[in-house]
Amino acid sequence: MSSEISINLTNSPKPKPKDDQLGFGKIFTDHMFVMDYAEGKGWYNARIEPYGPFLMDPANIVLHYGQAIFEGMKAYRTVDGKITVFRPRSYLSRMNRSAERLCIPPIDVEFVLKGLKKLLSIEKDWVPSGEMTSLYIRPFIIATDSFLGVKPSATYRLFIILSPVGAYYPEGFKPVKIWVESEYVRAVKGGLGFAKTPANYAASLLAAEEAKKKGYTQVLWLDGVEKKYIEEVGTMNIFFKINDELITPPLEGSILGGMTRDSVIQVASQWGLKVSERNISIEEVYAAHAQGTLQEVFGTGTAAVISPVSLLDWNGKVITINNGETGETSLRLYDEITGIQYGKLADKFGWMEEIE
Ligand SMILES: *Cc1c(COP(=O)(O)O)cnc(C)c1O
Repeated sequence: MSSEISINLTNSPKPKPKDDQLGFGKIFTDHMFVMDYAEGKGWYNARIEPYGPFLMDPANIVLHYGQAIFEGMKAYRTVDGKITVFRPRSYLSRMNRSAERLCIPPIDVEFVLKGLKKLLSIEKDWVPSGEMTSLYIRPFIIATDSFLGVKPSATYRLFIILSPVGAYYPEGFKPVKIWVESEYVRAVKGGLGFAKTPANYAASLLAAEEAKKKGYTQVLWLDGVEKKYIEEVGTMNIFFKINDELITPPLEGSILGGMTRDSVIQVASQWGLKVSERNISIEEVYAAHAQGTLQEVFGTGTAAVISPVSLLDWNGKVITINNGETGETSLRLYDEITGIQYGKLADKFGWMEEIE
């Protein structure tokens, strides 16, 4: 593989949006990182070029059989004006775990990180500066063979696109109401659940739409076999605080190993909180609520970091958590992790990578 990255800059840069126009994933920067793969040749033609649409053959494998993976991470403008990325090597290494499951060739994490850092240094004026804003980074790989037979593609393309995003909680924490799904399932052990791949999202849409119609923001998935054990929320992992213990389902193949999940486990363990990665059934959660020991429930993910849960509805049995308010551990974890991300607190875990 060539270690060169060619650079072709746009002559018509777009005006930068104001912080209050950002939202999530609607606006894209001027450039993207792109790289191709061909069997026998490896990854080649790494380049930074103007952001824009590209031509695709209608027989492209990815359009028919979904051979694709993605990632989602963030860059920040810190309080002292640096541009940093949160745990980029961990996210890119996870991309290789997804790649293996989808028969996509692995990337060289250090090389792609070099490309990402180059792209970010070109786009640094796109990193917004408003309170709790950030630059969302979306790397993804798609199959590109034109062929209708079902087999892994021999060619691929990797993209990294960037999107400035607004504060997730512009008016402070908003705890969410969650529908516990006991009809549809998202993934099973042995399937794609641990991979960040579009198919998992396709599988989740109908349940999420039906939950929305009932007035819920998210779906909490139960295991696909017994519909008994808790898995994860739509785009987040989930934690329960019961009797001062933080409990989150273990990584056994059907759920995504979130970087925020991992960061929460590290921070909470360092604080001396008891953290357990173990199976937890929906019955256990409801029993804890009945006994008055269910203290907090929160989701974790790159977009929101911590998302407090105010209410669960499991087949019409509704429980309210912590009087519908954000719990102290949820708030403390949010302040600690975002504090590290925005450079307000010491980076004691070595998570932040600075962009020159
Ligand atoms: C991305 C994702 C998460 C959260 O992972 P983070 O690395 O914390 O952003 C959780 N569940 C699913 C299904 C995901 O795709």
